[in-house]
Amino acid sequence: MQRDLIQKNKEKLEKEQERLKKTLSGIATKDPNVKYDYNAKYKDFGDPIFDDSAEAAEEALYDSNISVEGNLELQLRDVSQALDRIKDDNYGKCVECRTEISGKRLEARPAAKYCLKCVKKIKHK
Ligand SMILES: [Zn+2]
Repeated sequence: MQRDLIQKNKEKLEKEQERLKKTLSGIATKDPNVKYDYNAKYKDFGDPIFDDSAEAAEEALYDSNISVEGNLELQLRDVSQALDRIKDDNYGKCVECRTEISGKRLEARPAAKYCLKCVKKIKHK
């Protein structure tokens, strides 16, 4: 694994991690007990008990926040784990079969944790 590619990807991953954290903190609160976990904020539009439509809107917003939040959370987890692998000197190795992931793939997807063979295997499960 080339050092300069790792260094370049580390910078990319750190920027991505910052961006994801910022986006997440706008729509969710960090769960202090669970690493990488965020809870979607429940936006209060006020007085939902007396207004059904406001309550429905509140619920819909909460639902959409949860799906966006879950997606961002997964991305953040992948990015953070990739950074952990750089720290542990395991970066660029498939977490499933330990094969080296090609530099081309890592350039396109710095957070990649599987080699192409394993990605196909996992998708077809
Ligand atoms: Zn693999």
